Amino acid sequence: MGSADFILMINLLVAGLLAAAFMAIAVYDTGRVSARWLAFSYLLGMAYFAIEFSIPAFADARLPVVAAFAVFLGATIAFNGGLAHKYGVRPPWSPMLCFLVVASVAVYLVQDLPRHSLTRMMAYQLPYAVMQFAALGIVLTSRQRLARLDHLLALVLGASAVQFASKPLIAGALGGWGANPQAYVQTSYALVSQSLGTVFGLALALLALAVLVRDVLDEATSKSETDALSRLFNRGGFERHADLAMRDAVRRGVPVALVIADLDYFKRINDSYGHASGDRVIETFAGFLREAAAEHHVAGRIGGEEFAIILPGTNLAAARLFAEGARNAFGALPIEGLPADHRCSASFGVAELATDEGFADLLRRADAALYEAKNAGRDCVRVSGALRRRQAPTVFNGKG
Ligand code: GH3
Ligand code: MG
Ligand code: MG
Repeated sequence: MGSADFILMINLLVAGLLAAAFMAIAVYDTGRVSARWLAFSYLLGMAYFAIEFSIPAFADARLPVVAAFAVFLGATIAFNGGLAHKYGVRPPWSPMLCFLVVASVAVYLVQDLPRHSLTRMMAYQLPYAVMQFAALGIVLTSRQRLARLDHLLALVLGASAVQFASKPLIAGALGGWGANPQAYVQTSYALVSQSLGTVFGLALALLALAVLVRDVLDEATSKSETDALSRLFNRGGFERHADLAMRDAVRRGVPVALVIADLDYFKRINDSYGHASGDRVIETFAGFLREAAAEHHVAGRIGGEEFAIILPGTNLAAARLFAEGARNAFGALPIEGLPADHRCSASFGVAELATDEGFADLLRRADAALYEAKNAGRDCVRVSGALRRRQAPTVFNGKG
C-alpha cells in the first residue's frame, strides 16, 4: 500500500469514528434529528474515501471521479441538514439537492478540459465553498441564542469556505497543481491543500460534535433541575441558580432579596378534594409565580407546597411589595377543580441579603419570617430585618 492509499485509509477510519460518535448521540437521544444527519454525513465521508481508494482500479476513471465528487458534496449537504436541525432553521433541501446535480454535471463536463484549466479547478472547488457558506448562513440565521462555541463553529465554517474558494489562488502562488495526478502528488500545493482539508474537516467535525454534546448535557442538566409538576426549578436547581444570581447581584453592587411562600392548610385541600386537586393548586400557584417573575428572577419549588423566588436588583421594601402583590392576587384566584367560591391562600417570608451573608443564611432568615407569618394566622407577609440592622421582624398584612 502506497503512502497516498495509507492516508486515505486513515481518513476513512477517522470518518468512521466520527459517524460512530454522532450515531451514539442519535441512539442516546432518539429525538435529536441533527445527530442522525451528521452521522449520515460522515458515513458518506467514508464512502467518499472508499471510492477515492478504488479509483486507480478503473481504466476509465471519469465516472468514479464524478461519483467521489458527488458523494463528498452529498456529505456536506447532509452536514448542513444536521446543522439546520440543530439551529432550528428549515433545511434548504431542494436548493441543495438541485445544486448537487448541477455541480456533479459540471464536474463531469470539465473532465476533458486540460488539468491546468482554471474552469476545471473551479468546478471542483467552488461547490464546496458554496456549501460551507450555506452552513455559515444556517448558523447565523438561527434564532437560538448563540454561545461562544457556536460563534467558533461559524468562524471555522467561514474560513473553510474561503479556503475552498481561494484554492486556485493558493495553487497559483505555489506553482500550480501538476500536469497529471502523479505530478500533483509531488506539488507543494497538494501538501498545503490536503493539510488544510484535514485541519478544517477535523475542526468542523469536532466543533459540531462539541455543540451537540453540549446541547445534550445542557438538556440533561435542565431536566434534572426542573420540577415536573410546577415546571419551576426543583430544590437543587433553585439553589444552584439562586446562588449564581445572588453572587452576580453582589458583584454588581445591587441588592438581592428572597421571597419564600408556603400554601396555607394545604393538607386540608388534599383531604377534602383529593390529591389531584392539590396538584392543581400547586400547578396554579407555580404558573402564577412564573407569570409574576421577570426573566432575571429565579423561581423554584423547594418543597411539597413551598416555593422560593430570588429577586436580584430588589431591596427589602420592593420584595415585600412583590410578596404582598402575589399574596393578594393568589388569594383572589378561583382554582379549577375546586368549588367556585373556594379560595386558597399562602404565607410569605421575605429577606434581603445582608453584608457578608451567604445563601444559606438568607434562606434561614426568610424561613424564620415565613414561620412568623404562619404563627400570625397565615395569609400574610413577614419580613426579616437584615441582621446588620438588628431589626425585629415586622408584620405586613391586610389584617394588621
Ligand atoms: P400550613 O398552613 O401550616 O402550611 O399547613 P399545611 O397543611 O399546608 O402544611 P403541611 O406542611 O403540614 O402539609 C403539606 C402537605 O402537602 C403534606 C403533603 O401531603 C402535601 N403535599 C406535598 N407534596 C405534594 C404534592 O406534590 N401534591 C399534593 N397534592 N400534595 C402534596
Ligand atoms: Mg403549607
Ligand atoms: Mg409546607
